[in-house]
Amino acid sequence: MIQKILIANRGEIALRIVRACRELGIKSLAVYSEADAQSLHVQLADEAICIGPAKSADSYLRADRIIAAAELADVDAIHPGYGFLSENAKFAEQCESCNIKFIGPSANAIRMMGDKAVAKDTVKKAGVPIVPGSDGPIDKEADAVKLARKIGYPVIIKAVAGGGGRGMRIAHNDISFAKEFHVARNEAEKAFGNGAVYIEKYIEKPRHIEFQILADSHGKVIHLGERDCSVQRRHQKLIEESPSPFLTPDLRKRMGKASVKAAEACNYEGAGTIEYLVDAQGNFYFIEMNTRIQVEHPVTEEVTGIDLIKQQIKIANGERLEFDQSDITFTKHAIECRINAEDPARNFIPSPGTIGLYYAPGGHGVRVDSHAYSGYAIPPYYDSMIGKLICYGSTRKIALERAYRALSEYLIGGVKTTIPLQKAIMSDPTFMEGKATTAYMEDFFARTPSDLFNT
Ligand code: ADP
Repeated sequence: MIQKILIANRGEIALRIVRACRELGIKSLAVYSEADAQSLHVQLADEAICIGPAKSADSYLRADRIIAAAELADVDAIHPGYGFLSENAKFAEQCESCNIKFIGPSANAIRMMGDKAVAKDTVKKAGVPIVPGSDGPIDKEADAVKLARKIGYPVIIKAVAGGGGRGMRIAHNDISFAKEFHVARNEAEKAFGNGAVYIEKYIEKPRHIEFQILADSHGKVIHLGERDCSVQRRHQKLIEESPSPFLTPDLRKRMGKASVKAAEACNYEGAGTIEYLVDAQGNFYFIEMNTRIQVEHPVTEEVTGIDLIKQQIKIANGERLEFDQSDITFTKHAIECRINAEDPARNFIPSPGTIGLYYAPGGHGVRVDSHAYSGYAIPPYYDSMIGKLICYGSTRKIALERAYRALSEYLIGGVKTTIPLQKAIMSDPTFMEGKATTAYMEDFFARTPSDLFNT
């Protein structure tokens, strides 16, 4: 039985896990960098251990220090959250070899799905449609151009080791392909220490729709419906909602079934997400699987009433899923706005600093997952997301109106944030009509006066 969990993360997700542990009667151990000593997850966890200096490479990415802390504090399990070591197969293996349960899938499943080429091949064999493209990495320019022509332009060049929307280049013809191919390889080498790239058909104006799955260690897999994450800036999600305004019941059923098959194909255990691009005709293509909890998981929690972090812990404990697919119902509409400390007037560069007055919205149908508080100093070393506002109601219209209302109440003094931008999107007709694709933000910026989201 898991009695104590080390949380190998920071920020809002670390706090989210502390809260789930507390409700389950499980002790929590926070680990933190010197820059995070004042962080809320450190203050609210039962115990806390400093694991090093501010830089992630010296603290949150140091598997050796995290495992040493786990042994010192005698924990039974480690929850990796998202980012950092959450999709690091070696870390999962190290945990297991120290007899500490890694809360997530097996190292083998992480490895299979972490390599985008292997992942695509695996799900394809299970009958899940994938985006047409190269079979794995491609390194000779001549071969790449030949294939790009065969697939048909435009194509997208993606880093094998990419993530977080980085390491992608689009080419519209042979000439731009040659240039982008080199740029992509160099960028991938610099950013990920691995220059390998692969190519895919570039799907124009698709929707990004992903399915949440849960799998227990006894072979049962179910899905918890979809999240539409089409509102993205530079391939990074800004808004997520469920259900998707685009999916028909039939398409939802087919994508749900495909997602369960994809998870079964890698003997998955825990919470995971299968990501797809969906074109205007309703064709869907697998792009990747995230083998961890995601930032946007609360949207699914509010629509299904299922606490995903608690489910992860129960599954890690060896418990059986207590529901069948037919028990899962979707009774609400939920939407999440990511609140980033960024300056829209300066091309969204991070805006760290000390928060003056902090006031989070509340009321009917409003949830705020955030580690921010009045007087909190946002460190400059990490991701700029400082909170998530999740609003829900019986219809999409109510959820959107509520989100606009809650954003209007949200006060974060002293730093620039994406709150004004989120408000402008919540009241934008294209978004309100449910017509946003991944091309939406570019179009939005082109036609919206910047003083609307620059305040
Ligand atoms: P990452 O691992 O960096 O998050 P993904 O493969 O999940 O990368 O893609 C992130 C986003 O990039 C997608 O949501 C979509 O907006 C865009 N994208 C990725 N592949 C394609 C494609 N083949 N065609 C069009 N857009 C794509």
